[in-house]
Amino acid sequence: MEYSALVEYYKRLEETSLKTEKTTIVSELLEKTPADDIKYIIRLLMGRVFPLWSEEVIGIASNLMIKAISKAYGINEEKIIGKWKETGDLGTVAEEFSQRKGQPSLYDLTGCTSNKDTGAQRLKVFSVYDNLRKIPNLDKQTAEEKKLQCKKIQEKKLVLIAELLNRAKPVEARFIVRTVLSDLRVGVAEGIMRDAISKAFFADVYWKATLFQKNGKKKRFEKMLSGMKGKTVIAEDKVMDALRSGGGKVIEDFLKDNTVIVKNIEEINSISSFFKKNLGADYVFVDDADVGNKLKKSILDAVEGAYEIANDYGAVAKTVLDAGETGLLALKMQVMRPIRVMLAQKAGTVDEAFSIVGTPAALEYKYDGFRMQIHKRGHDVAIYTRRLENVTNQFPDVVSYVREGISAKECIVEGETVGFDARSGRYLPFQKISRRIRRKYDVRKTAGEIPVVVNLFDISYLEGKMLLKKPFLQRRGELKSIVREMPNKLVVAKQKITDDVKAAKEFYAESLAAGNEGLMFKNIEAPYKPGSRVGYMIKLKPVMETLDLVITGAEWGKGKRSGWLSSFVLACRDEETGSFLTIGKMGTGIKEKPEAGVSFDELTSILKEHILREKKNTVDIAPFLVVEIAYEEIQKSPNYSSGYALRFPRMSKVREDRGPDEADSLSRIVELFARQRGRTNFVTKQ
Ligand code: AMP
Repeated sequence: MEYSALVEYYKRLEETSLKTEKTTIVSELLEKTPADDIKYIIRLLMGRVFPLWSEEVIGIASNLMIKAISKAYGINEEKIIGKWKETGDLGTVAEEFSQRKGQPSLYDLTGCTSNKDTGAQRLKVFSVYDNLRKIPNLDKQTAEEKKLQCKKIQEKKLVLIAELLNRAKPVEARFIVRTVLSDLRVGVAEGIMRDAISKAFFADVYWKATLFQKNGKKKRFEKMLSGMKGKTVIAEDKVMDALRSGGGKVIEDFLKDNTVIVKNIEEINSISSFFKKNLGADYVFVDDADVGNKLKKSILDAVEGAYEIANDYGAVAKTVLDAGETGLLALKMQVMRPIRVMLAQKAGTVDEAFSIVGTPAALEYKYDGFRMQIHKRGHDVAIYTRRLENVTNQFPDVVSYVREGISAKECIVEGETVGFDARSGRYLPFQKISRRIRRKYDVRKTAGEIPVVVNLFDISYLEGKMLLKKPFLQRRGELKSIVREMPNKLVVAKQKITDDVKAAKEFYAESLAAGNEGLMFKNIEAPYKPGSRVGYMIKLKPVMETLDLVITGAEWGKGKRSGWLSSFVLACRDEETGSFLTIGKMGTGIKEKPEAGVSFDELTSILKEHILREKKNTVDIAPFLVVEIAYEEIQKSPNYSSGYALRFPRMSKVREDRGPDEADSLSRIVELFARQRGRTNFVTKQ
């Protein structure tokens, strides 16, 4: 497939913010995509080159991109920076300079790329993907080699990107640059991809109510009917009768232009595959809304369930094309390939927590450390953070605890790892242990200084069997059966099963007294849902509600803060599109001197690398850093794209263990806003 074809879809996606429209656009493209291309086209549509489970990242920041643009178009860097400041988007800057360039010059890329086609040839999607996926491999050298060759590696990276830009049409350059910077901005998140794959490859299910609605939906359905030509529809007999008696030109044409296979509901219920190729039909019309909903849900669940295991919609779609539902059901988790973690919802009280997870519930200490997903195969151990980053090298102590304390040959377990002070035996605050995550050198020394204890709380895979669908208590039983506890090193999380509010409150007090953050309430029958915040796990903390937000911009400071980024733009996540919506600015809670807590200097050096664009003293920052924010209250505000603003926001922590996709969502903000309106102190403040 030519890259220009993909770019046409990018442009259409950019133009709409409606989830349904985006789904239709993506599914249209997927239907046309050859099976061999589908894996990487899906990744590119989602703005990535590597699947979520992969440790590889492109890792190119704006400064290197400026050099690549300069190299591709022979324009000096100052000029590029000047334009960038004006337009605020390196993608459009590349587009503009590409328009001005003359005949493409070709690089001698011996050893760097296998692309032999000339600049005159059209750029293929595969060529773009292939050049980009080579970038991280250039870093795979020993530290010593790296030191010697750092310049050379950088040069090769530049060449790979410049070569693509050089061969790209102007509008293609825009999207190549944005893909490399991980800032594609076409808004195709996981939910949209799930729906689009279902729509493209499985029959679309409709039920009678959607056919006969009197409001605007009827029009939409008629539009859909008239858009159907040459399709095959399986329709329940009752629906056909109703359609025929409804009459009208649209229905007449529909019956003329399409093949309609009439079946009764028993026949429809016994259909084993809705994969279009197997079914031989594109649509299914049923009478009853519940039946329709159930069919539709079973299709979406099959696609989503496969994604939970494969962690890559590219691989899911390829599996569908090769083997339909059967292929999806046969997918297996793999040790050393991390899955997304299940997320917790918040509750304000013990009663609320019980009401969400049901009774009796499993209550556990909520340890204040960071989450580890630990994979073991024989002697090999790999440790991943909740963002699926591999931190095995930073935790040699944990690796040896796992080798010693976990008897299973193959398993994937999860736990909360907490730092503790060996002298006092007390837990250390999260900030201390987070230093161990960042540590790349002298890891053994730091391991000695900040010992950790792993509190295991779940298991998702054991000796070739996936446990995701097993009820929590059964998983906990499996976990206990393979762990030989080693006090202060590797233990199973402290748990109490109860339906009694008083007992829960006592356990909560006990957990807090032991230096923990609070309690977790878990539904004892629930499966493990990767990546979901479905309410199977609830957290209860005594502290005032905080929000996990993403920094998407900042201002350069003045006076004694000059040289540092100060006032930071905070954003929450729009879970539908995956984009970020601003919710306020924050400049407090950050230290001027590098003592306890996070300093301006530290924050500036973390963020500087990720600046996307600069205008005067303001900068846009790629959404990657999550910070925990305390605040007084949430207010409605037209000044920010979320429609809300925080009153007195201040930073309490940098959450390096979290990815932007885990930041609090707009619906969470809406929920908190609604909840706080009931509070008397809020009302009196107004
Ligand atoms: P929060 O970090 O506030 O979103 O709370 C959820 C997190 O609590 C999980 O992601 C874990 O990192 C952590 N946690 C601590 N103790 C437990 C536990 N017993 N079970 C599950 N998660 C826990």
